[in-house]
Amino acid sequence: MSDIIHLLPDHVANQIAAGEVVQRPASVVKELLENAIDAKATHIKLLVKDAGKILIQVIDNGFGMSQTDARLAFERHATSKINTAEDLFNLHTKGFRGEALASIAAIAHVELKTKTTSQELGTQINVEGSKVLSQEIISHPIGTSIAVKNLFYNIPARRNFLKSSSIETLHIIDEFQRASLAHPNIDFSFYHNESNVYQLDAGNLRQRIVSVFGKKTNEKLVPINEETELVSISGFIAKPEFAKKKRGEQFFFANNRFIKSNYLNHAISSAFEGLLGSGYHPTYFLYLTVPPNQIDINIHPTKTEVKFENEQSIYAIIKSTIKHSLGQYQVSPILDFEHNNTFDLPYNYKDKMVGLPKIEIDANFNPFNDNFSRNQPTKNWETLYDTADVFENKKENPAITENLFETNPNSSNQVSLQIRNTYILGSIKSGLVMINQNLAHQRILYEEFLTKITLEESTSQALIFPLNINLNHQEIEFIKTMISDFESIGFKFEFKHNDQLVIVGIPVTVKESQIQPILESLLDDLQNQTESSNFSQVDCIAKSLAKNLAVKNGTSLSAKEQESILNNLFSCKEPNISPQGKATFITLSIDDIEKKFKSF
Ligand code: ADP
Ligand code: MG
Repeated sequence: MSDIIHLLPDHVANQIAAGEVVQRPASVVKELLENAIDAKATHIKLLVKDAGKILIQVIDNGFGMSQTDARLAFERHATSKINTAEDLFNLHTKGFRGEALASIAAIAHVELKTKTTSQELGTQINVEGSKVLSQEIISHPIGTSIAVKNLFYNIPARRNFLKSSSIETLHIIDEFQRASLAHPNIDFSFYHNESNVYQLDAGNLRQRIVSVFGKKTNEKLVPINEETELVSISGFIAKPEFAKKKRGEQFFFANNRFIKSNYLNHAISSAFEGLLGSGYHPTYFLYLTVPPNQIDINIHPTKTEVKFENEQSIYAIIKSTIKHSLGQYQVSPILDFEHNNTFDLPYNYKDKMVGLPKIEIDANFNPFNDNFSRNQPTKNWETLYDTADVFENKKENPAITENLFETNPNSSNQVSLQIRNTYILGSIKSGLVMINQNLAHQRILYEEFLTKITLEESTSQALIFPLNINLNHQEIEFIKTMISDFESIGFKFEFKHNDQLVIVGIPVTVKESQIQPILESLLDDLQNQTESSNFSQVDCIAKSLAKNLAVKNGTSLSAKEQESILNNLFSCKEPNISPQGKATFITLSIDDIEKKFKSF
């Protein structure tokens, strides 16, 4: 028999290696972010199109690459980070295997642009399926930009295997969060389909956690700090009452590298023992620092599983440190010594704590119900727009309403006029205001939902007969990934056999008969949300519910209802735009009106 063994050509070997390193778009994101961090960048920008299926680009201001290095970077086992096998035991960088770029270039179209401090001009290299197509000299700022296009273009099986864009996006967000939490001292931004999903300014760890997970997180955090010879532990855990049903917010870092460890996770869960209800998981952001020679990162191509030299001792130290902090926290509340205004997201309702939300939504109100006809507005509206509350509003917020409206001691005499059952015309000091009733009501409801979520006042009504909802597998997966957000607004779900969703509780503002359409439209909005400019899932939920529950244009409104919309709109934080950014009203000044009456 003749010889049958031969060496695989490089591009095939690279494709095989790619199978280990690059499972999905998020893997590319991880590798590119790590390279930027290793290059000591202080600003890192991630641009993604269509969940990374079309484009993943990372732009950094790190130290860049020389012309030769740029070319070598795509070779397998090409790395600047280690020289000898011993170096593996003294790693201070994320990378070291030298296979990420080679793997990525084997299965995508890659465009690299880079320049170092010492060079006048930079380098651009284009590689497709391991083949270098071009290399040019370009002008470029210091740093590196790597754009990865058409991932898996030459491995259709791989490409078809990718999950829905929403799921792939969630994975990308995971990687982005991990990198940004590991390096709060670096500015990170993330754009998906040109909309800015995250804009994280460099700061301390608490600030970073809060800017990633929202202002509300700040008060949940209990600091952890322990220095031992073996390991130092820092970071935060969330107070037990903020534990989650989903495992989402559990972050372990070892020497600033995100790691997965069921073993150490168990140390934390056991420290929380007795403090959490069954099925609840603690939220934590823990940072372990160990001497580099005490940790082996080399056991997995994606470098997230690691081995510690003294794993059992570390387990014990983590457990006792957390127990200690929990005990401390129970006797003395944590002082918020690091308050920073940048935490104040647009909806800072802290100062509104005394007053409850102004509008009480009537549970019987159902815009989907045809009985709620154009011509006979029902009593519901009177409770929906409780005028007593409106007056209270005015008292609390004189700056908003009194400046705008003519001072009128008896507000119910205030005249408004509805035009085409769509526009409400009111008189203001400077002239006239014309409101679009649907857009204005969306703004009112949207802020009301956000208030409720922020104050954690969303109430859920239990359904006597739990509702089975028909959703596809993907949608159910999707809901599972953001269950706590749904809960924050009053939904309660149960999952059966992995593919059946049972609704056991719904927000009080929603009627049972509305659930299916509202949920469907909510899912739609959530899955497309990264295309618009929402800054969080909760924000998107509030927008979607507001859109579905707001009074439609074409609905006849009584004088009281009109007035209520006028007043409540101008008590909003941002009365002039709808949640989607459309104008809610226009004004016509006396000057403008007078001009119209001038002779020609
Ligand atoms: P590794 O990170 O394991 O060394 P990679 O394939 O990810 O392997 O990268 C290969 C080499 O390319 C790196 O060692 C580094 O020298 C260089 N490199 C990659 N990305 C960047 C970047 N953003 N800035 C500077 N150098 C980079
Ligand atoms: Mg790397």
